Amino acid sequence: MLSAAERSWAEERLERILEHEAKEKRRDFIDDAKIEALLEETANPAKERVRDVLAKARSLVGLEPEEAAVLLNNTDEDLWQETYAVAREIKQEIYGNRIVLFAPLYISSPCVNDCIYCGFRHSNSQVRGQTLTWEQLEKEVQALVTRGHKRLIVVYGEHPASDIDFMCESIRRIYATRKGNGEIRRVNVNAAPLFVDEYRQLKEVGIGTFQVFQETYHHATYARLHPRGTLKHVYTWRLFSLHRAEEAGIDDVAIGALFGLYKWRFEVLGLLYHAQDLEREFGVGPHTISFPRLQPAVNTPYATSSPYLVADEDLKKIVAVLRCAVPYTGLILTARERPELRREVIPLGVSQVDAGSRIAIGGYEEMEREHIPEREQFQLGDTRSLDDFIRELCEDGYIPSFCTAGYRCGRTGEHFMSLAKKGFVKNFCTPNAVLTFKEYLLDYASPATRQAGEKVIKHYLAALEASHPAQAQAVRERLQRLEAGERDLYF
Ligand code: SF4
Repeated sequence: MLSAAERSWAEERLERILEHEAKEKRRDFIDDAKIEALLEETANPAKERVRDVLAKARSLVGLEPEEAAVLLNNTDEDLWQETYAVAREIKQEIYGNRIVLFAPLYISSPCVNDCIYCGFRHSNSQVRGQTLTWEQLEKEVQALVTRGHKRLIVVYGEHPASDIDFMCESIRRIYATRKGNGEIRRVNVNAAPLFVDEYRQLKEVGIGTFQVFQETYHHATYARLHPRGTLKHVYTWRLFSLHRAEEAGIDDVAIGALFGLYKWRFEVLGLLYHAQDLEREFGVGPHTISFPRLQPAVNTPYATSSPYLVADEDLKKIVAVLRCAVPYTGLILTARERPELRREVIPLGVSQVDAGSRIAIGGYEEMEREHIPEREQFQLGDTRSLDDFIRELCEDGYIPSFCTAGYRCGRTGEHFMSLAKKGFVKNFCTPNAVLTFKEYLLDYASPATRQAGEKVIKHYLAALEASHPAQAQAVRERLQRLEAGERDLYF
């Protein structure tokens, strides 16, 4: 239950939010009836229609929600196999073999909201709300960098203890933490929607992407799962949260839906309308899209009894259709999913994954404990170490990347998208991926992973040598400098 101080903080903030919403000029772009009608109209599509849409997807121009609805409604297994093949092709064409790696860092869990599906909801007496002290934060970051991580997504509950000043200070401290060659080079943020002036403060401290998931785009479901009187109940405040972030100059924003709260086909279309609206207003869509599935959490029966839980096979469909519909938008698959399923889903279009993750507050300091339910928002499916995960990626022919060069060279937002559309990601980011991967192999990898990783780099260099010998020479030269002890080299 909330204390009097927490209640008064939440009430004040809610008042400010409602005042803001009363003046909001933007129009809610999610039309539930239209989405439901679209899904009905495209039910059981003819084979030719599905193939027409796939042909368009192959040309990398993206799909309209109407076209994505055709793919989502396909019921023919052979056509799904064709859809997966197209999704794989698109991923290969735009991203090559590169997979970007990051880790989540939960900094605070107390939350004034009461979302029915969440372990951190304030009425859940079996989860202990906790906020890291500065000393604990430093230890967590050191534990992460000594395993090789360079990119984080930091997570905060919506609470007076983790207000904007706290967030900014914690991010400054993360960037300032060093251990050996270890440092965090990009901090992305997952937090509650903010006001424009608050986003500006976050921009000042140098964040990468700001991420807000709408959870569900379906209005009635949203209202039911986020009780009236809580901050999160206000649908449009959340829907336009990333528009406000863009207004404040944060040009990498990330959207997502929590799959399992409502019909998965509806949520995919909601994500696409969201992406379209950001692109319409700011000239660039979201940097990434996430599609987490509802997972079990302590004392949270809704998380396992929702009527809309998504099957493994349907998760594959979600990823493949998104890859076809928004070819240049990064897709994030998290460690919520089990190892075997991650291995199957990654080739269908995923560009970023977290690995070696712990989501309990203070979890990296107690790495050997895979689950600490009383300190977790939900339960992870993949608790393997970063090293084990990387070795599997190498065996599957991927180049793991810790690269943050694009962000630090200003290749973000609209600029990033225009480069991505010229094949830049593959030709420019892959050499940087190789350089950061080499750092990992030199500083953190186990002997077996080092062996598997060196093989991947050798293979990459041989292919590059054949097509772009001058670039291959430039990469080789930097790899030698890394071997000689330099770090943080990029193109
Ligand atoms: S989903 Fe987020 S906002 Fe809702 S209770 Fe959990 S931590 Fe709080």
